Amino acid sequence: MTDPRRTIPRTDTLLAEPRIAAAVRTLGRGLVKAAVVAAQERARGGEIPPDAVAEAVLAALPVAVSSLRPVVNATGVVVHTNLGRAPLSPAALEAVVAAGGATDVEFDLATGTRAERGRGALTALAAAVPGAAGVHVVNNNAAALLLCALALAPGQEIVVSRGELVEIGDGFRIPDLLASTGARLREVGTTNRTHVADYTAAIGPDTGFVLKVHPSNYRVTGFTAEAGVAELTGLGVPLVVDIGSGLLTPHPALPGEPDAAGTLAAGADLVTASGDKLLGGPQAGLLLGDATLVARLRRHPAARALRVDKLTLAALEATLLGPEPPVRAALAAREDTLFLRAEALSTALAAEGIDARAVRSTAAAGGGGAPGVELPSAAVSLPAWYAEPLRRGDPAVVGRVERDRCLLDLRTVRPADDPVIDGAVRRCG
Ligand SMILES: *Cc1c(COP(=O)(O)O)cnc(C)c1O
Repeated sequence: MTDPRRTIPRTDTLLAEPRIAAAVRTLGRGLVKAAVVAAQERARGGEIPPDAVAEAVLAALPVAVSSLRPVVNATGVVVHTNLGRAPLSPAALEAVVAAGGATDVEFDLATGTRAERGRGALTALAAAVPGAAGVHVVNNNAAALLLCALALAPGQEIVVSRGELVEIGDGFRIPDLLASTGARLREVGTTNRTHVADYTAAIGPDTGFVLKVHPSNYRVTGFTAEAGVAELTGLGVPLVVDIGSGLLTPHPALPGEPDAAGTLAAGADLVTASGDKLLGGPQAGLLLGDATLVARLRRHPAARALRVDKLTLAALEATLLGPEPPVRAALAAREDTLFLRAEALSTALAAEGIDARAVRSTAAAGGGGAPGVELPSAAVSLPAWYAEPLRRGDPAVVGRVERDRCLLDLRTVRPADDPVIDGAVRRCG
């Protein structure tokens, strides 16, 4: 009797199997070959029969080359840090795909010579905030602050209120970031109250700049006092304001949230912000303000280490010029429209015998800003056990569990994804 292991298909034969050959084209030979070898190994060990090897290879292959899985954000947190913050608009995604090949990011196609890197994105940013004479874009807001400290306060002091020594998340602390450059932090005032006089008393020949930081993830209430941007101008040193969220102009749904245009109009010399929070674009650090200061930042040697790639520049330009990105749409969605969507989904699911109901819910802007601002919303409420299979599905749907119910909050879900949610819930049953 022949040993069945001798009939295990050869590597060449398996790689020629049409479905496996197709996988080689999308996933690459390395990944597929490793799956082939592993499946042959299982057959040799008697774990699977030789005629099941091809199926075993296909079952073991990843869905895509990237391990990052697409997620439908049904948490009700508009800017969800753990879900990659702002989802890009379709226009921004298209721009990323186009820029992914060779592109004229630093080249003038008319003259055939070198051109300013990312000029399209920079022009769009300057046009969005006419009050900014100079603009620059770096890797993220942390990089923007780092560059300010390196270029504007080398071996000097940065004057900052004790009420604004912010930890953003995952242990990231702005004071530590600034101190890592060798600049010294000159803390003024107290946790709850800081006055203009505290700043003026601290400013001297060693001062690099005054920094104001927007407490984007907490609020100080009660007996509080803060020196506003307008009060801190004309102190003889640059005033840098980290507004955090990246709102370029005021947003009606978020009245307390500072914006770049307003902060510059109030007298800030430089504003720093994130690109992937409430602006709704790619991860980026925006620097806007005084042309001379921005030129100093751009010329600093570290600017090269903090610069953004062509994909970011493409996505940022498309976010600034193109249609409303998902974050902005989520903020603008009307409560009654959201409830109608929740009702439509729940009714369809209930008709299948699923315990689904439309409920009122409260969404939030998230780590991106506007702490304490509640956004009225609507959700599909399901038994809590749905949360896990929904998370494990493809695409993953991430809701939140509240009082033993799994809520799929529709404020953070694009209407086009409602059928995706419908299908995902049915598959859990
Ligand atoms: C989010 C935030 C940062 C950090 O921004 P990144 O773009 O994540 O580096 C800095 N300052 C404030 C006030 C923030 O809200």
